[in-house]
Amino acid sequence: MARANAAYYATRDPFADFTTAPEIGQVFGELLGAWACVVWQSMGSPDPARLIEAGPGRGTLMADALRCIHRVCPKFGTALRLHLVETSPRLRAAQAALGLPAVWHNSLEDVPDGQAILLANEFLDALPVRQFVRRPAGWCERHVEAGAFVDMPVAGFVLDHPEGSVLELSEAACGWSAALGGRLAAQGGAALILDYGRSQSGPRDTLQALAGGRPADPLCNPGSADLTVHVDFQALAEAATKAGAACHGPVTQGVFLSRLGLAQRTEALAVANPDRAAALRESAARLAAPSRMGDLFKVLCIAHPSLPVPPGVEQGTPS
Ligand code: SAH
Repeated sequence: MARANAAYYATRDPFADFTTAPEIGQVFGELLGAWACVVWQSMGSPDPARLIEAGPGRGTLMADALRCIHRVCPKFGTALRLHLVETSPRLRAAQAALGLPAVWHNSLEDVPDGQAILLANEFLDALPVRQFVRRPAGWCERHVEAGAFVDMPVAGFVLDHPEGSVLELSEAACGWSAALGGRLAAQGGAALILDYGRSQSGPRDTLQALAGGRPADPLCNPGSADLTVHVDFQALAEAATKAGAACHGPVTQGVFLSRLGLAQRTEALAVANPDRAAALRESAARLAAPSRMGDLFKVLCIAHPSLPVPPGVEQGTPS
C-alpha cells in the first residue's frame, strides 16, 4: 500500500479521482484558519510560531486558511512560519503555484523545532495498514502476491474475534501520531486531524481503492488508484496520549464545523454573493450533513496538556 500510494501520488492527479473538503468550498479552509488563530492566542501568541500542514494536496486549504488568518488576526499572520510536509513533487509544484510562502519537507521530523499548529486533512487515510484475518486455525497476515491476497499464518495473536474478522494495524499512522504528540508535549502547540474513519477501534476491513471517482479493485494495477483505509481515531489518540499529549475528541466533522460557524459564514457569503448562494449552501450541506460527509468524517485534536480545549472539539452534546 505504501509503495502503490507513493507511485500514485507522484504520477497522478488525485483530484481526478476524489474530491476533498477544501475543494468543496472556501469556508472549510477559512474555518480552520480561524481555529488556528484562536489556538495561537491560547498558546500566548508565540512569535515565531510554526504553521504546518501535512499532505496539503493542491494547497487550497492553506490558501483559504491564510487569507482568513491575515484578515482576522494579522499578528498571527506575521508570526507564522509556514511548513508543508509533502512527498509528491507534482503536488509540491501545485502548492508553490498558489504562491504559498512555505518551506517544504518530506516528513514531520524535518520540520524545525518550535511551538506549532498543525493541520492534516485526509492525510492519514493514505498511509499503509497491515491486515490480519481470523481463519479457523488462527490469525493470518494478508500479503499481496501476483495481484492476489495470500494468507501468512502469524503467532502471538490472542484477540478473540469470530472467523473471517479482519483487523487493521495502522503502524504508520500511529507512529506519526506518537511523533506528533511527543513533539507537541515537548515544544508546545496543537494539531487538528480531519479524516474519514471511526471513533473506536475494532475489526473491520476498510481498504478501498478509487479510480476515476469510482471504486476499483485495490490489487489491480498498483499505483493507478488511490488506496485508502478508514482512520482508527482511537488508536491515533492512544498513541499521542502515550507520547505525553492531550487529546480532544474525536467529534464528527458536522458538529465541529457547525460549532465553528459554518452556517453563519456561509450565509454571510451568500448574502454578499447572491449568484453563488445556492452553491455555497450546497457546499455547506455536503460538508456537514450527517448523511453526507458530516458523520463519516471525524476531527481529533492533539495538544500540549496545558492548553485549554480548542474550539469545536469539546466532548458532549453539540451546542
Ligand atoms: N489535504 C489535501 C490533500 C489530501 S490527499 C486535501 O484535503 O485536499 C493526501 C495528500 O497527502 C497528498 O498531498 C499526498 O501527496 C500527501 N501524501 C501522501 N502520502 C504522504 C506521505 N507519506 N508523506 C507526506 N505526504 C503524503
